[in-house]
Amino acid sequence: MGNDVLVRARDLQVHFPVRSKGLRRRTTGAVRAVDGVDLDVFRGETLGLVGESGCGKSTLGNALLRLVEPTGGSVEFDGTDVTGLSQRDLRALRRRAVMVFQDPYASLDPRMTVGQTVAEPLQVHGLHRGAAARAVRVAELLELVGLDPAVASRYPHEFSGGQRQRVGIARALAGEPDFVVCDEAIASLDVSVQAQVLNLLRSLQRTLGLTLLFVSHDLAAVRHLSDRIAVMYLGRVVEVASAADLAADPQHPYTQALLSAVPVPSPAQERRRERIVLSGDVPSAAKVPSGCRFRTRCPQAFEPCATVDPALQPVGAAGAHVAACHLHGLVPAAD
Ligand code: SF4
Repeated sequence: MGNDVLVRARDLQVHFPVRSKGLRRRTTGAVRAVDGVDLDVFRGETLGLVGESGCGKSTLGNALLRLVEPTGGSVEFDGTDVTGLSQRDLRALRRRAVMVFQDPYASLDPRMTVGQTVAEPLQVHGLHRGAAARAVRVAELLELVGLDPAVASRYPHEFSGGQRQRVGIARALAGEPDFVVCDEAIASLDVSVQAQVLNLLRSLQRTLGLTLLFVSHDLAAVRHLSDRIAVMYLGRVVEVASAADLAADPQHPYTQALLSAVPVPSPAQERRRERIVLSGDVPSAAKVPSGCRFRTRCPQAFEPCATVDPALQPVGAAGAHVAACHLHGLVPAAD
C-alpha cells in the first residue's frame, strides 16, 4: 500500500433541507449530515470510518459513491471529479465503486435466487456475456466468499444472516470493483458470525487488492480490520491516523472517549481502564454548535473552542496523524 489516493473528498457537504409543516412547506434550515469533510482513501488500504450513530458516517460513505448527491465540495475517484458525472459515466463508477449494505435481509430481493442476485451486476455491466459464462462466474464468486456454488439455485430466505451477507459481498464483487464501502456490514449479524465476516472481508481485501472503507460504530471491529482509522463527529472528520497510532496515542478528546469505552482483553489492564464518560447528548445536526462542534461535550474545552472552528492539523510525524482540536494549536477551519 502506497500513499496513492484512490478516493479524495474535499470540503464535502451533504445537507438535507428542513421544511415547515403545512401547504407552503418553506425551507427553515438544514440537517448538516456531512459538513465539510476532507478525507483521502489510499489505494489498497482498509480505512475504518468510526463514530456514534447519527454522526453522518453512512451518508459520507453513500456520498463518496454518489448514492446520495453532495450539496457542496468535491469527490474525486481515481483522479476524476465524480460530483458532475453524467448518467453514462456514473454507470462506469457503479462498477468500480460499490456498497456492501448493512442489512442482508433487506438488501437481497427475496424473489431472486442467489445465482440471479449475483449475476445481475454482470448483466448490467455487460460482463461474462451469455448464460453459461455468467454461471461459471457466479460459481467462482460464491466460492470466493466461502459458499458452495450449488446454493445458486436457492432463495435468500433459506440462508442465515451470515450466509446472506456473503451473498451480498459476492454480488458487490461481481463487477471486479476497486473500491468497496462496507456500511455497518456486520452490525445486524450475531456476534459469533461477525468475526467470520470480518475475516472474510480482510482476506478478500488482501487477495483482490481492494480498497475498503469500513463504516462502523464499533471501534473494536474497525481496529481489527483497518490500516488507518478516521473518526467522525457530527458531520465532520475530527481525527485520522494509522490504526496503531490511534489506539496508542489518540489526540482528539472525542477519540479518547471512544477508545476508553472499548474493553481490553487482558483482565489486569481491563481493571485499570479508565472510562471517559461524555456528558450530554450529541447535538442535532440541524443545530451544530458554534466553534468546535464537540465543545458542548468536551471535558477539555477552553476559551477559543466556542468561537473558532478547528481545522484538521498534523499532530504526529510526517503529517500521517491529524486531528481537529485547538489543544494542538489554534488553526481555524476554512469557511
Ligand atoms: Fe475540545 Fe476545544 Fe479540542 Fe474541541 S477544540 S475537542 S472543544 S479542546
